[in-house]
Amino acid sequence: HAKHQGKNNYQLYSFSRDISSYKKFVLEKDMRKAIVNEEFELYFQPQVEATSGVIRSAEALIRWNHQEWGLVSPGEFIPLAEENHLIHHISDWVIRKVCAQLREWMDKGYTLRPIAINISPIRFLKKGLVDLVKMQLELFQVPAKYLEIEITEGSLLKSEKGVLSTLEGLQKLGVKIAIDDFGTGYASLNYLQEYHADTLKIDQVFIQNINHDNKKGNAIISAILHLAKGLDMTVVAEGVEDPVQFEFLKQRECDLIQGYLFSKPVPLETYEQMMQTGYLKPAKQKDSIAAIE
Ligand code: C2E
Ligand code: MG
Ligand code: MG
Ligand code: MG
Repeated sequence: HAKHQGKNNYQLYSFSRDISSYKKFVLEKDMRKAIVNEEFELYFQPQVEATSGVIRSAEALIRWNHQEWGLVSPGEFIPLAEENHLIHHISDWVIRKVCAQLREWMDKGYTLRPIAINISPIRFLKKGLVDLVKMQLELFQVPAKYLEIEITEGSLLKSEKGVLSTLEGLQKLGVKIAIDDFGTGYASLNYLQEYHADTLKIDQVFIQNINHDNKKGNAIISAILHLAKGLDMTVVAEGVEDPVQFEFLKQRECDLIQGYLFSKPVPLETYEQMMQTGYLKPAKQKDSIAAIE
């Protein structure tokens, strides 16, 4: 049904319930076809400056435009792609696609803003990522500072030399590194000292807990913001849905806001229109919000 509702409808097909091994087999076959036929598409979710609503960057989020099911969410097929190792093809497609997109925007004369992409630990820990990224940036003649790579704590768990050299290799190119879903992985905070990342993305579970009566939850976010500042990292709050959360974060000098309050992930054409305008306003106005102490 989803496919009949058009691109701007965000209803995503869900097949994760009751996923039999037969279904997995069929899906893997479909996924291989999808890679060849380019049935994947990138949506973009803006990251805005908390103080001004100015669009600073965006995260590219993959969607699978399946012939029968319509748009399939990455939460449904990325775990499967990690299992059957098709994630390597998908990651490489995303890297190439984003470099090509940045090139196109440069050619159109747009004011360029960085794009963040998600790289699965499975891909991150495999050899050759630095060379691949370098090659694509060179091929499309895109300055590396416009690419940000989001990794989760899962990529940092193995305290191998490989992790450090991949991180350093990417940063030497000029690519930015963001820690995604911060606070939900199993890594000890020690890695923040061992590796230098540019950006910290506070996971949405913490953001969704912000409210007047949640002293503990609020204290945790304040501490994360403080920590990031001390480490000279840019902080992005993910999953900001309401004005109370937004005000709380703004008061505590969170740098960037990403969430439905400003925009859901949108198709390319919509994001291009947003880029032209240059800023976004929160969807709901804050009329009667008392500050959270
Ligand atoms: P993520 O990287 O943490 O991305 C943020 C997710 O939160 C996105 O879900 C986004 O649509 C959603 N989100 C953003 N703002 C809000 C909000 O205000 N409220 C709520 N409820 N949700 C919000 P999405 O697009 O379904 O992606 C899910 C996950 O799939 C991503 O989590 C990421 O881990 C993975 N993913 C997406 N694209 C790729 C990709 O190209 N490669 C890989 N390896 N993983 C990807
Ligand atoms: Mg992400
Ligand atoms: Mg995240
Ligand atoms: Mg996530």
